[in-house]
Amino acid sequence: MYSLGIVSTGYMFCWPWYYTVIPAFLTFWIAISYIYVTMSKWQKEAEELQHFYQNLEILVKQRTKELEEAHKKEISHEKEIQKLKDQFVFIAAHELRTPVTAISWGLENAIESGKETLDKTTLETLQNVQKSNSRLIDLIDDLLNVARIDAGTIKIEKKEIDIESIIEETIKEMNSLFKSKNVKVSFDKKGIDKINTDPNRLKQVLINLLTNATKYNKENGSIDITISKEDDYYQISVKDTGIGIKEEDMDKLFKKFSRIQDKKTQDVEGTGLGLFVTKEIVSKLGGKIDAESKYNEGSTFRFTLPI
Ligand code: ADP
Repeated sequence: MYSLGIVSTGYMFCWPWYYTVIPAFLTFWIAISYIYVTMSKWQKEAEELQHFYQNLEILVKQRTKELEEAHKKEISHEKEIQKLKDQFVFIAAHELRTPVTAISWGLENAIESGKETLDKTTLETLQNVQKSNSRLIDLIDDLLNVARIDAGTIKIEKKEIDIESIIEETIKEMNSLFKSKNVKVSFDKKGIDKINTDPNRLKQVLINLLTNATKYNKENGSIDITISKEDDYYQISVKDTGIGIKEEDMDKLFKKFSRIQDKKTQDVEGTGLGLFVTKEIVSKLGGKIDAESKYNEGSTFRFTLPI
């Protein structure tokens, strides 16, 4: 094409005009044809490429849909298994609760009526059986609570209550536990107004926190309970002088079945469910819970309740 152009330009100067025009026209025509052929080729290639991309897009969409469906099936299968497991735990725990409660009453009566008549060894054996039985009741209650939390069926029945009376009542009921470790408990009353909350659930939270504050306390330690009114909530704190929690263990506290591995706690009995249940209940009551601790010095657990 290039040489044709040179030749035709040469003709323009030496030959009559048609000798110039014809080769120029020919050159132009060849160039146009070449461009047309090349562009058609490119267009075809572009169309093929577009077609390929469209097919690829369809294939990717189809595969994604298939994977999503398989994933959904897997999730619903897992959910079904989890639901069956939760139901099993709930039914097993529920069925166990009735006979275990009956055993507890029976033991209590036997110990009470046998105090004068039974010999020392038999009485001690009965008391030990009663202790183990009450630990079993606590475990069953924790499992029932976890099953209810997982199933979302935990019931909250709110009413107007005097929160300070509930705290005092709970301390009284737990007196034998505090005595067993010679732990001194103080409660700083503030004359707080009545609040609208669930008294049984609140008691459950207090029992869990006070049990831990005793279990993980030192012999002759102390527990301070305080209550304060903030903008739109009350804050209740339970502070102990116990073994404390290491910084790196703090995030394990409120997790299900989570117990802290430590030389100091290895002999303390527990399931790692108490704080998980406590957190869920506080949240159902509309509040929040957190903890602060210094290893070897003690811990403070604080929870809030909306006014
Ligand atoms: P459990 O007491 O049955 O093990 P919890 O859920 O009540 O279960 O507590 C989880 C863990 O948190 C305990 O195993 C213990 O290591 C730690 N913990 C809880 N409360 C205290 C506390 N007041 N002082 C020190 N450690 C605590």
